[in-house]
Amino acid sequence: MTSDCIFCKIAAGEIPATIRYEDQEIIVFDDRQPQAPHHLLIIPRKHIRTTLDLTTADNDLIGHIYQIAGKLANDLGFADDGFRLVNNCNEAGGQVVWHLHFHLLGGRDLGWPPG
Ligand code: AMP
Ligand code: ZN
Repeated sequence: MTSDCIFCKIAAGEIPATIRYEDQEIIVFDDRQPQAPHHLLIIPRKHIRTTLDLTTADNDLIGHIYQIAGKLANDLGFADDGFRLVNNCNEAGGQVVWHLHFHLLGGRDLGWPPG
């Protein structure tokens, strides 16, 4: 746990979030500023700063995140229509929270290319 990290605090239950799924490795909650009818954030419980900080020891973790993203998209009913799983990395990539997270967006037509 990194004491000044808002997502570590959500994972620790220290600040509230609408939790959609959790297990020993990850936690999934609603984004507080949703950009689509469904906008979930998938985070590892452990603090990883960015995609660039991943190591081969995290390969199973990332695979697990993708498996759960697909399962949640199915369970919430937007998988067949289509969805997007996005990771923003560093400033130009749009990252503002420095704890690795994946945006799971669905429920509307998502434009391409993204802004
Ligand atoms: P990013 O720009 O990829 O770093 O995305 C960070 C996301 O975290 C944004 O979509 C924010 O709306 C979201 N966010 C920040 N703080 C919270 C919070 N306390 N609960 C839920 N979502 C949050
Ligand atoms: Zn953190």
